Amino acid sequence: MTTELTLIADFLELAGDYLDRGYRRERQNTVILEGGPELAGRVELTRSPNLAGDQEFTRGAELARGQELAGDSLERVSSDIAACSACGLAALRNRAVPGEGVQNPLALVIGEGPGADEDREGRPFVGPAGQLLDLMLASIKLFRDKNCFIANVVKCRPPHNRDPLPEESAACASFLARQIALLKPRAILCVGRVAAQVLLKSSEGIGRLRGQFAEYQGIPLLPTYHPSALLRDQSLKRPAWEDLKLLKEKLAGLDPVYAGECRETRP
Ligand code: SF4
Repeated sequence: MTTELTLIADFLELAGDYLDRGYRRERQNTVILEGGPELAGRVELTRSPNLAGDQEFTRGAELARGQELAGDSLERVSSDIAACSACGLAALRNRAVPGEGVQNPLALVIGEGPGADEDREGRPFVGPAGQLLDLMLASIKLFRDKNCFIANVVKCRPPHNRDPLPEESAACASFLARQIALLKPRAILCVGRVAAQVLLKSSEGIGRLRGQFAEYQGIPLLPTYHPSALLRDQSLKRPAWEDLKLLKEKLAGLDPVYAGECRETRP
């Protein structure tokens, strides 16, 4: 708790007078999607490991559209992930990490892959970076148990927290594409270089990609810094906050209820 309070104070300092309320967490309609051995082996997914990442995303989206008609669901994607051994990361994982959040979220947050804490718990962004991510999102009224979904490009932990290899991202791409097609988020927040590069099919650094909206299959997509980078480099917190304000403005323009929540004043 002490660590959390420290992070709250730190981030609020950046927000300044912009924030007119404290953090008020509201919980409803929670959908928690965790991988686990109880899900393994239920569904086999035919894969094409030689496809490039962008082809895999396209194929995954088509697959999702087709399976949506045939009863595809987030739970089914999770069970596919838990049973998957399409790349070498399968042999190294303790638990796959499909993602968690709510159906039809305002924001889908996408990172690069699970770390040690996430691999142990089977949940995304649960370590120190995840705690900071929750605080960042809460500062603009976004919560993983209310109006967000959090996922990664690869669903199994790369060893020593290295970047996912291109072939690993490609092998895993259809899962994320299916999740996006099923979730239908109002906006996507890519945290970190890897996620932004994969989704945008770009080789640009995150410093050049962040700060402006792009588009993924018609969905507004905003790249920003990964919270673990913010923990390492304090100077990145201000541009990250500017990115969050952009996301808040975008979502407020898309969702009147969210806009109203953002307008609430301190009692
Ligand atoms: S990272 Fe993705 S493709 Fe590789 S084994 Fe895990 S779920 Fe399958």
